[in-house]
Amino acid sequence: MFDKILIANRGEIACRVAATARRMGVKTVAVYSDADAHAKHVSACDEAVHIGASSPKESYLQWQRILDAAKATGAQAVHPGYGFLSENEEFAQACADNGLVFIGPPASAIKAMGLKAESKRLMESASVPLVPGYHGAGQDPEMLHKEADRIGYPVLIKASAGGGGKGMRAVQKTEEFAAALESCKREAINSFGDDAVLIEKYVQRPRHIEIQVFGDAHGNYVYLFERDCSVQRRHQKVLEEAPAPGMPESIRAAMGEAAVNAARAVNYVGAGTVEFIVEQPGGYERPDQMKFYFMEMNTRLQVEHPVTEAITGLDLVEWQLRVASGEPLPLEQDDLLIEGHAIEARICAENPDKNFLPATGTLKIYRKPAHASFEIDVVRVDDGVREGDVISPFYDSMIAKLIVWGETRQEALAKLDAALAATHIAGLQTNVQFLRHVLASESFSQAKLDTALIQRESDQLFKQDKLGAQMVVAAAVAQTVLSERQAETHDPFSRRDGFRSHGTASRRIDFEYKGQPVVAKLRYLSDGLQLAVGDQDARPLAFSADAQGRLDVRFGDDRQVVQIYKIGEVAHVFGARGAATITEPDVLSHAGEGGGEAGRLTAPMPGKVVSIAVKAGDKVSKGQLLVVMEAMKMEHTIAAPQDGVVAELLFAPGEQVTEGAELLRLAS
Ligand code: ADP
Ligand code: ADP
Ligand code: MG
Repeated sequence: MFDKILIANRGEIACRVAATARRMGVKTVAVYSDADAHAKHVSACDEAVHIGASSPKESYLQWQRILDAAKATGAQAVHPGYGFLSENEEFAQACADNGLVFIGPPASAIKAMGLKAESKRLMESASVPLVPGYHGAGQDPEMLHKEADRIGYPVLIKASAGGGGKGMRAVQKTEEFAAALESCKREAINSFGDDAVLIEKYVQRPRHIEIQVFGDAHGNYVYLFERDCSVQRRHQKVLEEAPAPGMPESIRAAMGEAAVNAARAVNYVGAGTVEFIVEQPGGYERPDQMKFYFMEMNTRLQVEHPVTEAITGLDLVEWQLRVASGEPLPLEQDDLLIEGHAIEARICAENPDKNFLPATGTLKIYRKPAHASFEIDVVRVDDGVREGDVISPFYDSMIAKLIVWGETRQEALAKLDAALAATHIAGLQTNVQFLRHVLASESFSQAKLDTALIQRESDQLFKQDKLGAQMVVAAAVAQTVLSERQAETHDPFSRRDGFRSHGTASRRIDFEYKGQPVVAKLRYLSDGLQLAVGDQDARPLAFSADAQGRLDVRFGDDRQVVQIYKIGEVAHVFGARGAATITEPDVLSHAGEGGGEAGRLTAPMPGKVVSIAVKAGDKVSKGQLLVVMEAMKMEHTIAAPQDGVVAELLFAPGEQVTEGAELLRLAS
């Protein structure tokens, strides 16, 4: 075994690798960028080396500096994590050339699986089933269009070099093909430096089921069963589970063997994932009729590997380290068993209600459910951040992963919901409540899985208000009264409701909830409080606080235990049923403010202007595309909020913009 390894990554995966290394007595070296100088992964390792500025191009992708750091610190091996350099064959080769062990497959296997089109050609010859499509070398647009017509619509255009859900366009009919091809190629060249594409039949209502494989340097292979990653948004995974619900034993074995064949075809060593798209011709009721097709192989550890660990009881990073140091696989196929059911939820900084727009900001509050580490009794939290840390625009938007295990899927689902309810994040937008809505949806709870689940259930998932305005206001009022009482006991001169002694006293508190003003009228009666919210009848309000600061709020017939965090004017209310924010505007601080934002179009986040679809003087109509931006690895389109004329462009394509920067001016 190695004495010391360098972890060429950041965030949760760097912390994850460091945890296993520590348990095995292997020393670790972190690398970090400017933005990560105080990051959690730096303190999770024994040593750390600064490798450059914040953008990945200047740090985590600077492989020469990473090699230098490994040599300078005496590391014997490099763990690349996922993303960044993990699937970079030149880096894997450079490690080998410098006498360092790359903890991953040989460069030749990365290369063979690196381009989707070439890997498909290779899989074809290894008799692994493929989605009908075109994956040839020819790239003439007209020829591609003819191929799409031949395959039959809908089709999917995919960047051969693509990854992370990027560089894909679904095309519904032949008239849309040319424009989609152009946009796909633009994204591909910008993101991957290679605009070659392939075309596939767009499988209707498919499941995404992938197989975890492992190979060693002695020619042994095993598969560690499957993960179902069908719940996706923008072709990116949201919830992952193992085993796949309803998976027949015969299909599991057939997929496992196909995946091992795929790995063997490229002399694979280490952890890898073979992804399949699975057609359900018999619907959800007939999983025995599922047909699987090879999609791609990810030649690295996957974000969702913990669910496999949870059902097999194994530590996949330990296996990676053992295999990389030359040991044979710890177990044979017949030794491997599935126990129970595991689900992972990816908690991301994003706004689901705004088409999952990535969010940035400070984790002013970050409270997580109790961490039970690898023996998952309750919940395992894998993260790379701490309260107070910043989710910056430089890296991806994942904050943490919650992984739960249960004897059954139903039990795991209930545990995950409880864990999400106990995850309190404030300071930036997250998908935590959205994830709870997905868990509660009929499709997910009944395991009617396919990649369109989120779209199909959208009525139940977006813009939900599970606490309800009445309860949220009641909780905010209770919090205000409580903090006033606490202030009084500490400082008798701050007493502000001395008028109480004259019998019934009342006061008005103004809130803003979901952008609307809400008036709360509170009456202090001799036997307790009475509250009227908006135009609703007054009802008794009572509350009690426990030692952890949780408030048990009873308002009329409704009751909810909530935790409230007050940040400035905003109260963040977390309850078992849901979460919400409510503002109690400080009248004074807004004095003198005013002036509309009319006519200004601002960047929703820091990023780069990719293209501008209009020029000064153009007449535009509401909803028309104006600007394409790229930020946090995604393209965002900015459309005209109303009819008007473009008065002025303030940026050119290629320029970086900060959040809130005015991009162009519209005149009406
Ligand atoms: P997984 O199936 O493990 O989620 P993804 O393909 O979504 O795999 O990517 C895993 C991680 O690597 C994510 O953080 C993703 O953002 C990043 N990633 C994957 N491919 C690329 C790429 N080509 N460029 C940048 N980041 C990538
Ligand atoms: P990436 O490298 O970005 O992960 P993949 O080829 O693995 O790209 O595809 C990502 C997702 O896109 C899949 O999980 C699936 O939801 C969807 N997808 C890919 N190919 C198809 C297809 N042929 N038909 C329908 N959906 C597909
Ligand atoms: Mg994929």
